[in-house]
Amino acid sequence: MYFSESIYEHGLTNMDIRNVVIMGSGCAGHTAALYTARANLKPLVIEGHEPGGQLSLTTLVENFPGFPEGIQGPELVENMRKQAERFGADYRMGHVAKADLSKRPFELSFGKEIIQTRTLIIASGASARWLGLRNEQALIGHGVSSCATCDGFFFSGKEIAVIGGGDSAMEEATFLTRFASKVTLIHRREQFRASKIMLDRTRANPKIVFLTDTVVEDVLDVGKKEVTALRLRNLKSGESWDFPASAMFLGIGHIPNAKIFEGQLETDADGYLVTQKNVFTRVPGVFACGDVQDRRYRQAITAAGSGCMAALEVEKFLEDQGH
Ligand code: NAP
Repeated sequence: MYFSESIYEHGLTNMDIRNVVIMGSGCAGHTAALYTARANLKPLVIEGHEPGGQLSLTTLVENFPGFPEGIQGPELVENMRKQAERFGADYRMGHVAKADLSKRPFELSFGKEIIQTRTLIIASGASARWLGLRNEQALIGHGVSSCATCDGFFFSGKEIAVIGGGDSAMEEATFLTRFASKVTLIHRREQFRASKIMLDRTRANPKIVFLTDTVVEDVLDVGKKEVTALRLRNLKSGESWDFPASAMFLGIGHIPNAKIFEGQLETDADGYLVTQKNVFTRVPGVFACGDVQDRRYRQAITAAGSGCMAALEVEKFLEDQGH
């Protein structure tokens, strides 16, 4: 329908234009890939910075319907990918560095390539939030981590701190008791955001101790290139002290991966993409699904559901455009 001059600028032909590109390979991206592949749209999935998304960093998933005994997160997400590939979804490693949604077809910078696509599904998810402490970044990989399943193993027999009061923190703390001699869960409030079942399970674990109304002011010791202690402050008493620990695992939520759309798509105050009717952005032909646009539910199953919706809307959009 509406091809811009840019196709000719890049020496591309009609054949090179994708029907749909999916950014992200978590639950939302894989589901969108499965549906668009089965609709014969030959989707291209750009895997993104964290292939497999958050599920690939988790352990047992007990609340994805269809698995009465639960399923390991990495296995679930790998199965989704295989299913999409079976119907012809094309996966490429890497990430989209820039997107120009003002052109038709849309243009995506991918390495040295420009990928052109008639529709775009943004399923780029959300990445771990950090505390922003002075020494935090310098100690990542040396005792500071946001991924218990990746790094827990290195702290066998050690005392570990987990920060946060939501389900992620509970899950991390429980998982880390496989390795650690003791896990201290540090939370800034007395109330927990975590679901009752996960909170109860964590409380019942004899290796886990709770420290509430407490914030981390810094992590030590950059000089030794390892975590030796956390500088803590109790918000009620104002007391500060150095709390010995060999690692600090963060479970304090996530930040949506939507930065490259700044100024092109609407975001809320926390950077989540704003969508109407579940998956529509303000640019026709651009849809968003999963955690990049969902600050409310943020579940594997809801991400998969919205990936399906985005795929069905892509089909409809292309059909309406005569493709
Ligand atoms: P979350 O529910 O947003 O909880 C984040 C926690 O981190 C909150 O307790 C928050 O404290 C704390 N926090 C945030 N910023 C902080 C800061 N700067 N300093 C100190 N503490 C800070 O995030 P989540 O735990 O990652 O969970 C996200 C979603 O995924 C939820 O819907 C959850 O149910 C789901 N999830 C499910 C499972 C499962 O079912 N297996 C596992 C993990 C996650 P405040 O409470 O004071 O704000």
